[in-house]
Amino acid sequence: MKGTNEIRKIFLDYFAGQDHEVVPSGPLVPQNDPTLMFTNAGMVPFKNVFTGAETRPYVRAASSQKCVRAGGKHNDLDNVGYTARHHTFFEMLGNFSFGDYFKEDAIRHAWTLITEQYGIDPDRLLVTVYHEDDEAYDLWKKIAKLPDERIIRIATSDNFWSMGDTGPCGPCSEIFYDHGAHIAGGPPGSPDEDGDRFVEIWNLVFMQYDQQADGSRLDLPKPCIDTGMGLERIAAVLQGTHDNYETDLFKHLIEASAQESGVAAYGDKNISHRVIADHLRSSCFLIADGVLPSNEGRGYVLRRIMRRGMRHAHLIGCEKPLMYRLVPTLIQEMGQAFPELVRAEALISETLKLEELRFKKTLERGLRLLDDEVTKLSEGGQLDGEIAFKLYDTYGFPLDLTQDALRTQGFSVDEAGFTAAMAKQKAEARAAWKGSGSAATEEIWFEANEEFGATEFLGYATLHAEGKV
Ligand code: ATP
Ligand code: MG
Ligand code: MG
Ligand code: MG
Repeated sequence: MKGTNEIRKIFLDYFAGQDHEVVPSGPLVPQNDPTLMFTNAGMVPFKNVFTGAETRPYVRAASSQKCVRAGGKHNDLDNVGYTARHHTFFEMLGNFSFGDYFKEDAIRHAWTLITEQYGIDPDRLLVTVYHEDDEAYDLWKKIAKLPDERIIRIATSDNFWSMGDTGPCGPCSEIFYDHGAHIAGGPPGSPDEDGDRFVEIWNLVFMQYDQQADGSRLDLPKPCIDTGMGLERIAAVLQGTHDNYETDLFKHLIEASAQESGVAAYGDKNISHRVIADHLRSSCFLIADGVLPSNEGRGYVLRRIMRRGMRHAHLIGCEKPLMYRLVPTLIQEMGQAFPELVRAEALISETLKLEELRFKKTLERGLRLLDDEVTKLSEGGQLDGEIAFKLYDTYGFPLDLTQDALRTQGFSVDEAGFTAAMAKQKAEARAAWKGSGSAATEEIWFEANEEFGATEFLGYATLHAEGKV
């Protein structure tokens, strides 16, 4: 059976053999796009090459790009633990053509790679095309000899890609794998397409237009190709499972989590172990790329991911900090492909451990408060926004952590109430400070308070007093 590392290599070797430059993954913090929180697709490091703002010494490239989808336009944080195919961190395998080959070769390469190199049964595959893209439809018939019912025309934006409101855009075509009738879910375009039976493995984007501000579209002088295939999803297919979390890499992480926590990975506990394994990957890769937990921006997304993982460690009854003890296993699995993990090992472990120690006390007390409040709710009820804010402000619970904790029990949070409570506290704090010092000191205090929050100071002080930091 092919392991994840071998599957990545087959992809890159295939495209190297087709005159593609194999480019190492770019960092998770995009270097050329201040509007983007994290790199969320393989094309991100090549953005300026597609628009023509930058040229490279090659016209074809292939990569396995680190991606995080945990904030902004693509946010899969709430899918983790609920679907078999979404991660917050994943690798996107991609081949790119910068004005060189176009639709026909893109389809041919994709089909050859998955049916010949990977040996996937063609009868299990189906594809979608944009409803107006007859060219792609005909090419799939010609190259893959797919019957009409397995080339599905889709009219939604799922099959039309654009970089922004203006600029390069075009139709896309997605390849799906049918894991079989024993898994719930319908084919793309059907009402129950969100199940795990028909899994999207590869998206081929045909950049052929230049969107104008007035709504019109010009033909791009040199059409381009951008593709993305989830490594973990193709690994699942090749390892005979519909479930990404049952592939070699995740199995080893989950086993390590079970071993280090002393809690076997069955039933509900298994879900927690999956979340821990997923959040461990995104946390470690983000730290290796220079993100540190904080109370704003990228750092706050990292903190939210880490704390969600920590809540799950608590849920399975793990008393001691867990996540930092899983770092060696992650490095064993992925350190060779991503040497930055090896270089940052000490920083990663220390950061995780410190955050785990810091959050532990308030986590337990906060969960007790939450449990008390839940007993007061009736079926399908909403948690009072003030309580959610108290959990946030006093116990360090990001709002989405509280929501995640409530979701499995069928409850939600009064978000408007939460926002109002936060606004009220800010206004009160400002009023209390008014006139008590120089304007400059006030600003510094507010910035520090917003960056760290009152509990963070407390948490630090307590840990210090106990000699833990
Ligand atoms: P989905 O519809 O399954 O959420 P997507 O359409 O959002 O996927 P794309 O933006 O087309 O995904 O990304 C290209 C490929 O990357 C997908 O075909 C899939 O194989 C993979 N992928 C996307 N999101 C994730 C994720 N959260 N975890 C793992 N793989 C992913
Ligand atoms: Mg998606
Ligand atoms: Mg999709
Ligand atoms: Mg897609």
